[in-house]
Amino acid sequence: MKNVAQSGGPNGVRSREQCAELDALDRLAPARARFKLPPGVIYLDGNSLGAMPLVTASRVQDALERQWGDRLIASWNDAGWVDLPQRLGAKIAALVGAADDEVVVADSTSVNLFKLLSGALAQRPGRQVILSERGNFPTDLYIAQGLIRQLGGQHELRLVERQDLAAGLNSEVAVLLATQVDYRSGSRLDMASLTGAAHAAGALTIWDLAHSAGAFRVELNAAQADFAVGCGYKYLNGGPGAPAFLFVARRHQQDFTQPLSGWFGHEQPFRFETDYRPAPGIARALCGSPPILSMVALEAGVDTMREALAGDSMAALESKAAALTTCFIDLVAPLAEEYQLELVTPRAPAARGNQVSYALGDGEHAYALVQALIARGVVGDFRTPNIARFGFAPLYLRFVDVWDAVGHLRTVLANREWDNARFRTRQSVT
Ligand SMILES: *Cc1c(COP(=O)(O)O)cnc(C)c1O
Repeated sequence: MKNVAQSGGPNGVRSREQCAELDALDRLAPARARFKLPPGVIYLDGNSLGAMPLVTASRVQDALERQWGDRLIASWNDAGWVDLPQRLGAKIAALVGAADDEVVVADSTSVNLFKLLSGALAQRPGRQVILSERGNFPTDLYIAQGLIRQLGGQHELRLVERQDLAAGLNSEVAVLLATQVDYRSGSRLDMASLTGAAHAAGALTIWDLAHSAGAFRVELNAAQADFAVGCGYKYLNGGPGAPAFLFVARRHQQDFTQPLSGWFGHEQPFRFETDYRPAPGIARALCGSPPILSMVALEAGVDTMREALAGDSMAALESKAAALTTCFIDLVAPLAEEYQLELVTPRAPAARGNQVSYALGDGEHAYALVQALIARGVVGDFRTPNIARFGFAPLYLRFVDVWDAVGHLRTVLANREWDNARFRTRQSVT
């Protein structure tokens, strides 16, 4: 596995047997057995909703029957419910290059963005601009817009193209709000260099790690990142709508304030004081009671990843992801050429996340292509305007899956299977 990844990927894979050999050498291969994966499905959408770890069902069942059913309210103390946001945050911290007391689990990515953006703006009085990219994931932009309205409209959300973020930094910018891996193209920003540029301009950074956490090696502290949010239901396999996490660098915690000053962020919630006093550390980023059942499921996902890595680091995960995506890109290349699929994902592994995306004709064509693949058990997804997107979760995908997925793609294209009315009806979630 190591050699494969270090040489930049298994260039020149030409047979299913070769893929099987790569799987046999893959130290992470046993991790697949920790997931429930329906037979006949090649799941290339773990970047949108991660697969279910097998332990999740029994962990949630235990939380229901024993912790809640039998032990009732005692479980807030006995089962450690009350500090689950911090305990789970510390586990996630180890996956994203942060210290234990810099990450906490709470709310959704969107809500956490609101809290961090408020706190970051408050730390840069006199600066009016939130700098972000036009193609950012919509919720990031919507949250910024809503916060600006709430603050009275004095601030400005300034949107530039992704490649112009560094150039857009200047003395007006309070906060750089950047998503490390673009949800459409899969391109990855260099966190350390962009954070350095932001600091040089006197700005703070908020990194959205939705498609980074659990996908590859993230080094928040090595990059001097200020704030970050991330998603629990993508590569961390926490289940649909899993709680999200947020990171506040230790050097900012003392001055960090946020407007959702609920009782779980109070220094002493169970003193029931009249006035809010923020907790000394990362806990001040909390708002209300944690959703325990969902957090138990997220913890099962995070534990599954930690156990599967068993001594290997996130670098091992990153190597495998790079090899899988390289293998897919190489195998699809002749088809892309023949059928006008435009690779919109960077070819250099370090410049992309764990997804590979193609732009294809108009949106209808790309959507139908994805649906035709799903009908064959190859589950990717569609993103407007015309993107077919395939995610490669390194914990449970094999090189033979890549081979087989490309085989299905070849058949769908050669037989024009996408050209069927039943593949054109859009459902509400694409
Ligand atoms: C998936 C995703 C989110 C999700 O936000 P929620 O509040 O969990 O719905 C946010 N930002 C980015 C960049 C995403 O990819």
